[in-house]
Amino acid sequence: MTICETCGSNDVAKKGMRYNAATTKQKFFCHNCNTWFVHDDGFKKMKNRPEDIVRALEEYADGASLKKVKKHLLHHDDVRISRWSIRTWVVKYAHLLKKTNRDLVFRRLRAASTTTKNT
Ligand SMILES: [Zn+2]
Repeated sequence: MTICETCGSNDVAKKGMRYNAATTKQKFFCHNCNTWFVHDDGFKKMKNRPEDIVRALEEYADGASLKKVKKHLLHHDDVRISRWSIRTWVVKYAHLLKKTNRDLVFRRLRAASTTTKNT
């Protein structure tokens, strides 16, 4: 699955290729924020501020469901994001969390992934 590097939405479509000297890269268009991006190696240009992400993850650590965190992001930060992306955040930004929260978040994610197979 590909996720928009700007807004984290997964509402993206493949639209042709961008060529440069070294490599060929798949170009994507995000229907959520109407921007183009090239799938590179990860989320380098992610616009979501790490502090917002950390706050979302801390809510999750506090016991909010991924669904609730997702809803919160939409209403408070105007960020449309999939639950899957929130998981990605956990992995990417876990180092910014306090250790106790980090442990909680990972534990909850592990528990969730054993009950539901779809990511
Ligand atoms: Zn987007």
